[in-house]
Amino acid sequence: MAVELYSFKEIEKIRRACSVVVEVLESLAKAIRPGMSAYELDMLAREEAKKRGAKPAFLNYKPPFSNEPFPASLCVSINEAVVHGLPKKEQVIKEGDIVSLDFGAYVEGYAGDSAITVAVGQVSKEKELLMKATKEALEEAVKVCVPGNWVSDIVEAIYRVAKKYGFYPLKNLGGHGIGRKVHEEPFIPNHPDTLRQEKKDYKLRQGMVLAIEPMLAVGTDEISHDGDRWTVITADRSPSAHYEYVVAVTKQGPIVLTEYRDG
Ligand code: MG
Ligand code: MG
Repeated sequence: MAVELYSFKEIEKIRRACSVVVEVLESLAKAIRPGMSAYELDMLAREEAKKRGAKPAFLNYKPPFSNEPFPASLCVSINEAVVHGLPKKEQVIKEGDIVSLDFGAYVEGYAGDSAITVAVGQVSKEKELLMKATKEALEEAVKVCVPGNWVSDIVEAIYRVAKKYGFYPLKNLGGHGIGRKVHEEPFIPNHPDTLRQEKKDYKLRQGMVLAIEPMLAVGTDEISHDGDRWTVITADRSPSAHYEYVVAVTKQGPIVLTEYRDG
């Protein structure tokens, strides 16, 4: 499938969807506390989306790698969980956890998608540094989103920051194009080995809209599954962090469409 190119008018619509997604994530980050379950966070995400007239994008979404639709609206990935965390009632948030919250929604036919990692109370120095590094990898990746560069430049930017901190980007996962659908071409690997496996690179062009989402881990670049058929974990069960922004590629430079109040 070809990569979609969006007009500035359409980019504004994607921005509106993204701003609702950011508002939902900000309200979850404010609400999260020890004792709360991952399931409660999912219910809160649904409520906050509904208030804003947005339709959760992941609820009943069937990705190509699964035989069944995702039964929740929010992905909650705690500590060693990387992405696609299925929120459960028995999963109780504790002080010291790092929790990746990943939410997508449609507003008036356009999609938004974003993820943040939230520290619950006091977390270890290592987890703190992992969160900092992952966010920095995302920020560096955004900077290279200009026409004429390649998806491989994004992969390299993420890899460079991960290495600088001694952490690992996880293989077989990555970002994606976004616009009329929440997941579009191109796939944006987080690890150079995954890019090589894909045997495909894309030149960035004016009007491409990309969801970039580095996931870094402390001890490994290999992933595994935790048995609920959704939640991806690190192979060595070391902690993982995840941030995701949507960025429009324009001749004026990259425009981040997921604008957080606290940066
Ligand atoms: Mg995404
Ligand atoms: Mg996401």
